[in-house]
Amino acid sequence: MAILRFRAIEAAQNRHEQTVTPPASKISDYFGVNVFDRKTMKAYLSPSSFKKLEAAIEKGEKIDGSLADTVASAMKSWAIERGATHFTHWFHPLRGSTAEKHDSFFRLDSEGRAIEEFKGTTLVQQEPDASSFPNGGIRNTFEARGYSAWDPSSPAFLVESGGGKTLCIPSIFVAYTGEALDTKAPLLKSLELLSKSASAVCRFFDKNVTKVTATLGIEQEFFLIDKALYMARPDLMLSGRTLFGHSPARGQQLEDHYFGSIPARIKAFMQDFEIEALKLGIPITTHHNEVAPAQFECAPVFEEVNVAIDHNMLLMDTMSRVADRHNFRVLFHEKPFQGVNGSGKHNNWSMQTNTGKNLLSPTNKPKDNLQFLAFFVNTIKAVHVYSDLLRASIASDANEYRLGANEAPPAIISVFIGEQLTRVLEELENNATVQIGKGDNMYMKLGIDKIPPILLDNTDRNRTSPFAFTGNKFEFRAVGSSANSALPMTTLNTIVANQLQVFHTEVEAAVEKGEKLELAIINILRRYITESKAIRFEGNNYSEEWKQEAQKRGLSNYRSTYDALQAAMSEHCKEVFVKNGIFTEVEMEARHEIQLEKYAQQIQIESRLLGDLAMNNIVPSAIAYQQRLLETISQMRQIGLESETEVMVDTVRRIAKHVTLITHKVKAMINARKDANALDVAESAKAYSQIIKPYFDEIRYSIDKLELLIDDELWKMPKYRELLFIR
Ligand code: ADP
Ligand code: MG
Repeated sequence: MAILRFRAIEAAQNRHEQTVTPPASKISDYFGVNVFDRKTMKAYLSPSSFKKLEAAIEKGEKIDGSLADTVASAMKSWAIERGATHFTHWFHPLRGSTAEKHDSFFRLDSEGRAIEEFKGTTLVQQEPDASSFPNGGIRNTFEARGYSAWDPSSPAFLVESGGGKTLCIPSIFVAYTGEALDTKAPLLKSLELLSKSASAVCRFFDKNVTKVTATLGIEQEFFLIDKALYMARPDLMLSGRTLFGHSPARGQQLEDHYFGSIPARIKAFMQDFEIEALKLGIPITTHHNEVAPAQFECAPVFEEVNVAIDHNMLLMDTMSRVADRHNFRVLFHEKPFQGVNGSGKHNNWSMQTNTGKNLLSPTNKPKDNLQFLAFFVNTIKAVHVYSDLLRASIASDANEYRLGANEAPPAIISVFIGEQLTRVLEELENNATVQIGKGDNMYMKLGIDKIPPILLDNTDRNRTSPFAFTGNKFEFRAVGSSANSALPMTTLNTIVANQLQVFHTEVEAAVEKGEKLELAIINILRRYITESKAIRFEGNNYSEEWKQEAQKRGLSNYRSTYDALQAAMSEHCKEVFVKNGIFTEVEMEARHEIQLEKYAQQIQIESRLLGDLAMNNIVPSAIAYQQRLLETISQMRQIGLESETEVMVDTVRRIAKHVTLITHKVKAMINARKDANALDVAESAKAYSQIIKPYFDEIRYSIDKLELLIDDELWKMPKYRELLFIR
């Protein structure tokens, strides 16, 4: 008897919502209480130490030993007062997610007395015993150990879990030889690079700009599934997605879930994790239902990129932790259910000057708009030149199922800018070289007096684009929901910074030759507009025509992660990272290898799971039902009902056909796996992508057919209709 499934359904149906009590009536009373933020630092440090620390953070300068000691001691007091017993360097290793190694503040002093200790040296640097994090051969090559180092630009925070509290210190993770072993170290380098390159361009317009901060607002999509039902699906538990399951009679056709009212149990969970997130200083504001049943979204107010990414990683952890209290499981997988929407992590990105200006926000001042145009056009140009890098930055096994599927951007990178800005760019492009005479309104002549200041019109939104301009920021939508945004953001920062340097050099050269600055800028931008035109697409990205059109335009369309990752290792792509000091050649090779390995491993896990479940869960159910039918057939024949058994014989035959297919395919898949496992990393990833993965659909097809043929009572794992609709 398929006991587990029915017990799970019963458990899920009998849940009640938990009561959630906010720590205070006003959010402002508890926002950030678990963060060692500027305000707290100020309270715990002497004015001179605080000033020194703030300046160091602002300028990214080194923090000396005595200041580190002072800060460590302040952090310790603050954390211990709040009940923390442990501390950890919190970092983002290359396999995704976050890592921590908890140490106790507790020490015995020289006389054997118990004390709490936290020194500056411990704050600044730690040597985690983390030799099993993937490092793509870097450690082997250099025989180096890794260490984690404090990132003072992201505030330390307290995590409450299992009754204890831990002080978490955002850190980078590097090898002793200097190679980065994490995602944050290169991100910080790219932010610095972007600040430098963008500031230089800003100074064409405003001499007061000394720093440009990249900003990021991450919309996070996810599915919420009852814990009992989740536990009854080994594929969900071990691979994050369902490997089979017939689409339910009712899917998302009605789209009634979107912006619908949120069930009480889910509301309670949302409220609970929002409170936890707010206490951690994550400025979360919105949540609503997404298109698919059981799918939701939340988004914080944008922040500086590094902090926004730390917060997103922390948010995902927090959500998973809180979900458990509410008997839910959060699925961050990009495509947990075939046939319904996948989940993304829209990365809303812009740049802001130290003078407070959003560089991607048009205004009604023509002079500012020339600056806006410079950043706008250079970003488009960068995306065009390095679209392969952007594609690779979001490549993963899971995202492969989402890109190009239901309501998800395709694997082709293109930029959407909306009708009004298209018109502006077209006009600029088509104007002949501008001559400006005395008394002319230069901006009118340049054709940039027409940029509409307000573009935040929702009707002018193209939800199908992977990279869309949305009024005052670009939204990179192709990023997968489970991803760490560091790589896509490192890539975007780097390619835009690189492009801004090229632009800066070209403008300076023209001015040197005696051209008027504004004119030089506009003429160069005009050329960029023409050169990068192919990347702009305003139509339906989901359509078949676009695939053909994109091919005509020479745009890449890497459907598989393997192909996307290989393309990003071209000399052209590698150069931009290496030249700008974001990755060394060795780091790129190492990361590439890790990604390929991760990709192959994920397919390997799914392949094993699919094979196991097909053979020891699905096929036995099919045979049991077949057995029942055969008994009935034989009994009916005994009483002379020969022709009446025909339909049953047909069912038996169909079941047999699928059982045979499944058995053969699983066997062939296992053999293919054996072959693939004998290959080197790249060849193995290729084999997993091209030879093993295609078996999934074939095996699934037969399993999903069996689901329809077999007695519901004999089916052991929760079906889609139960996973998606019971809560
Ligand atoms: P949507 O209509 O796509 O939901 P929203 O206006 O709600 O868009 O914004 C989505 C995200 O974009 C939010 O996290 C928001 O804070 C962020 N965002 C807004 N302005 C900027 C900006 N200048 N830089 C980066 N992110 C921004
Ligand atoms: Mg959005």
